[in-house]
Amino acid sequence: MEFRDLRKQYRVLKEAIDQSILETIKDGHYILGPQVNQLEAELGEFTGSNHCICCGNGTDALILALMAWNIGPGDAVFVPDFTCFASVTCIMTRGAEPIFVDIDIDTFNMDPDSLGEAISDVINEGRLRPRVIMPVDLFGLPANYSKIRELAKEHSLYVLEDAAQSFGASIDGRRTCTFGDISTTSFFPSKPFGCYGDGGAIFTDSRQTADLLRSMRFLGRSVEDQYDNINIGLNSRLDTLQAVVLSSKLEYFKNYEICRVNRIADSYSSLLEKVVSVPRIPDGYYSSWAQYTILLENESERDALKDHLGGLGIPTMVYYPRPMHRQKACSRLSSAPRVSLKNSLLASERVLSLPMHPYLTDDEIDIITSAIIDYLG
Ligand SMILES: *Cc1c(COP(=O)(O)O)cnc(C)c1O
Repeated sequence: MEFRDLRKQYRVLKEAIDQSILETIKDGHYILGPQVNQLEAELGEFTGSNHCICCGNGTDALILALMAWNIGPGDAVFVPDFTCFASVTCIMTRGAEPIFVDIDIDTFNMDPDSLGEAISDVINEGRLRPRVIMPVDLFGLPANYSKIRELAKEHSLYVLEDAAQSFGASIDGRRTCTFGDISTTSFFPSKPFGCYGDGGAIFTDSRQTADLLRSMRFLGRSVEDQYDNINIGLNSRLDTLQAVVLSSKLEYFKNYEICRVNRIADSYSSLLEKVVSVPRIPDGYYSSWAQYTILLENESERDALKDHLGGLGIPTMVYYPRPMHRQKACSRLSSAPRVSLKNSLLASERVLSLPMHPYLTDDEIDIITSAIIDYLG
């Protein structure tokens, strides 16, 4: 049994993927090009965003977004304390300061009350300029954008949606990658919509921002004259091979994979809810299930269950064992965390992610859930 089985997916889509890869190799165009333009159009249409700009990976996508807004030293960026370190390193790369916000323990996403507190605190202290709220759609579930956007409006802040884990998810039918002034995603192989290497994309409804990002992902060059560089940029382009892999997968992702992971999550939850705390999806929300994460009573129960399942050949992961404010790289920040981060700490001690991917079979779900029920029940 695999935690996330990428080879099974390849076997299902082999013919289309092999053909598109071979065609691309023969074609001789390996970076950007018409295939990337086509993917950008497809992703724009799928998400409902006006502009899509593909780039090298999901971390660069976040860095480019912050660059486009000229976020740097003296600026505060509000980010959840419980996330992947990529969400934080992009802020620190720019010389800006991450301000850690607690999570809602039911959704694992940024808690709007804690966000409000953190914003007030930065304003009262007066040392940093509050500029950006960066919600993360953790484990595939969109953050609480109605409340977050209200706070952004009240304090004139940008919203940067980190949708690296939530491609394909939605709130009331509106897809992720549309909730930020800029939104980003990742095509890292194990993300909900992955390619066969590194890849990422940036989404925005603003033409001006899209033009700037298109220039910045390619050294800052001018679209009209490639030898006239008009911005400071990165070398962060998407490989053509990755673009054709993604294009080959999109229909299947949309029509089958995203539905299947939701059915698997429903099965997990109905079988497990009596013995353990299962993920709660708010009304109107639809997750892309990058992870299916249960919450145990405490750290020793979590670790013991993980060992027990491991012994039975059932792989599980702890996402994430260490909150952001406890990362060594964050010890250099000039200020200590401001708001209580108790739910983030609690989650890091109690979470356990179970195998989750569209090719998990009903038999495997039975084996996994029976093992958990036998152990805890
Ligand atoms: C994976 C991930 C990223 C970074 O994506 P890469 O393509 O690996 O650079 C950023 N944010 C979150 C929440 C992620 O899970």
